[in-house]
Amino acid sequence: MDASTLNKAKLFLDALRPEIRDLPRYNAGLSIEYVRKHYDVAQIAKLGSNENPYGPSPKVLEAIVQAAAQAALYPEPSCDPLREVISNRLGVAPERFIFGNGSEDMIATSVHTFVAPGEQVVTFAPAFGLHVIWPRSVGAQVCAVPVDSAYAPDIDALLAAVTPRTRMVIFGNPSNPVGTSVTADGLRRILAHLSPETLLVFDEAYREYASAHPDYPDFFAVLNREAESPWLILRTFSKAYGLAGLRVGYAIASDPELIDLMDRVRAPFNVNRLAQIAAIAALDDMAYVEQVVARTIKERGRMRAELESLGYRVAPSLANFVFVQARENAVDLAKRLLTRGVIVKPWQEPAYQDHLRVSIGLPADNEQFLDAWVLLAQ
Ligand SMILES: *Cc1c(COP(=O)(O)O)cnc(C)c1O
Repeated sequence: MDASTLNKAKLFLDALRPEIRDLPRYNAGLSIEYVRKHYDVAQIAKLGSNENPYGPSPKVLEAIVQAAAQAALYPEPSCDPLREVISNRLGVAPERFIFGNGSEDMIATSVHTFVAPGEQVVTFAPAFGLHVIWPRSVGAQVCAVPVDSAYAPDIDALLAAVTPRTRMVIFGNPSNPVGTSVTADGLRRILAHLSPETLLVFDEAYREYASAHPDYPDFFAVLNREAESPWLILRTFSKAYGLAGLRVGYAIASDPELIDLMDRVRAPFNVNRLAQIAAIAALDDMAYVEQVVARTIKERGRMRAELESLGYRVAPSLANFVFVQARENAVDLAKRLLTRGVIVKPWQEPAYQDHLRVSIGLPADNEQFLDAWVLLAQ
């Protein structure tokens, strides 16, 4: 930028809300292209972004190819065909859903709709970056409550942090990056504590992996039957359905009124045509999703067992990743793993800077990770 441009922007930027300048950047995982360009590696194990290594169902690919010819037309503005499928499947009125460009879009929209500058938002630490970044972008204060020493969500600590003035409680369940879940009773305790002025945002991005476990509660049923304060559940097609590249997710609300307000704030046409078609096709092939989930869970068990047998601490995960404690700074270790073509996500929050989140890939990816880890980790 030349000097005159800089000067012209200066007065404008001096008036910027300070929270924007202080905003942390979202730590998006590295791409295969980036690693190929910077490292001399033949095979890349992309285990940094919790993607589904099996990809979407072949039926989804067929549906996308067919729909591509209509790329010139705007998509359904409110995702009505997809809404109808999900509404029927869950037995929930269609007005209680809103769709987004990934569920991240619904994190942003819920924050922009319901949280004001100076208000308080509470989450767990370690946290999903956007549960912190979006509230801070509107000038809210975020309090992140550490998980307990067994990596479980610390409900007592959460309740101690939540006041009647807390505007939003938001967390991943299962947690990203930890992989643990609250219990049904834990959720009940949170609900009993929340004032009617607090919105609970229950981000269930990894639900399909977790609910394969017989003990994983039906949190939707608990919220729907028992909650007396407002809530949103967030879900996505990016993980078990293998559609991260297409961007589609949604929220279910306790009240259609919440949806009506969020609908005014969201971008129109926020879910593209191919994403809508793909999501409908994906829901039509649940057998494929179940198979992918089962394979991932099997590999997750193997990854955890191998790391533990090497003497590392691994959080018990219900999702498609494991959170492992290294014996050194995670960023340094992650950089060394890149020299072996292995992408993982080093955690960068205070108190967790020796932890890495490793997505569960294809068996060969996981093998490549374990070999590199044995060779390079302290
Ligand atoms: C992956 C993830 C999402 C989903 O993001 P999309 O925008 O749907 O791709 C949402 N929340 C958490 C906690 C996640 O890990």
